[in-house]
Amino acid sequence: MTILVTGGAGFIGSAVIRQLIRAGETVVNLDKLTYAATPEALEEAADSPAYRFVHGDICDGPLVARLLEEYRPEAVMHLAAESHVDRSIDGPAAFLQTNITGTFTLLEAVRRSGGIRLHHISTDEVCGALGPSDAAFSETTPYAPNSPYSASKAASDHLVRAWGETYGLEVVTSNCSNNYGPWQFPEKLIPVMVIAAVEGRPLPIYGTGANIRDWLYVEDHARALRLVLERGTPGESYCVGGDAERTNLEVVRAICAALDARLPGGAPHDRLISFVTDRPGHDARYAIDAARIRAELGWRPEHGFEDGLAATIDWYLAHRDWWEGIRARRYGGERLGLKA
Ligand code: NAD
Repeated sequence: MTILVTGGAGFIGSAVIRQLIRAGETVVNLDKLTYAATPEALEEAADSPAYRFVHGDICDGPLVARLLEEYRPEAVMHLAAESHVDRSIDGPAAFLQTNITGTFTLLEAVRRSGGIRLHHISTDEVCGALGPSDAAFSETTPYAPNSPYSASKAASDHLVRAWGETYGLEVVTSNCSNNYGPWQFPEKLIPVMVIAAVEGRPLPIYGTGANIRDWLYVEDHARALRLVLERGTPGESYCVGGDAERTNLEVVRAICAALDARLPGGAPHDRLISFVTDRPGHDARYAIDAARIRAELGWRPEHGFEDGLAATIDWYLAHRDWWEGIRARRYGGERLGLKA
């Protein structure tokens, strides 16, 4: 199968591409290489004759149409997005452009081309925030996005659904909880905390640290995405999650404990915990009921939170050159998302 992957130089897209290439698929990766891209994560795939990289924007309709014409993919996996909530608070325009207009552009190109299955990769954040005892998000939970990021992703989910219903496109959507693992850009919670702790800097926890997320190891998400692409029912959506609800404070304490064992000279790392001004509109809790993908597609995570976190921390300790280069040249770690 030939698959056009959008945003394949990102954190999740690169994990998907590594798995697809290992599985013998042919991949065309269309990526704009924004600040968030990690082309280094694709070195293994780049050695394969089954992999092509195209530097471009999903909002460029003629380019997308030309790629569909030239490579004739059977499927598109759509991961390209602006993905960081804090940046969406400071500058929502880029989120509306890529996440909404970009998805619209892609849908139109796929519609004109015909015969292509489109898998749209989305987030649980489109459902808004849960209270402490609310049931977990499922495929029937109403949408209630609270951030510019989640609103733009919700809009893209609705476009995908509408293009399926109205134009008969073969579409399937998945909504996943928070991912973590190797190659995650050092602006998201787990790499931010690992790197700060390694460097002996304060660990900046938003608010009281009581916000709850459901964590999934990125390789488990990538396997779920491949299953949804291959066997998901057209027109349906699938919730994907790790059954690993943790408060942010619990996550940071777990990172500190793991680093105490690995870097005893800097222990105890939890002395570095500091509480900072909360994110505006910070959703209290996300949780996913992944019963459908488990039952219909036989998926389940292979990594529990503790072993996935240990593997992630070991990876960041072994790839210091990578994140030091990003901190020096692309993003120095300054606080984002307070402009509201
Ligand atoms: P990321 O920010 O790491 O990567 C996004 C990639 O998209 C980058 O390589 C970037 O260069 C590319 N891109 C951005 N704008 C583009 C454009 N206009 N044209 C082409 N390429 C463009 O994101 P990620 O964490 O890998 O997330 C991938 C997808 O999964 C997103 O759609 C996101 O909403 C969704 N998602 C992420 C998580 C998570 O925890 N990271 C959870 C659920 C869903």
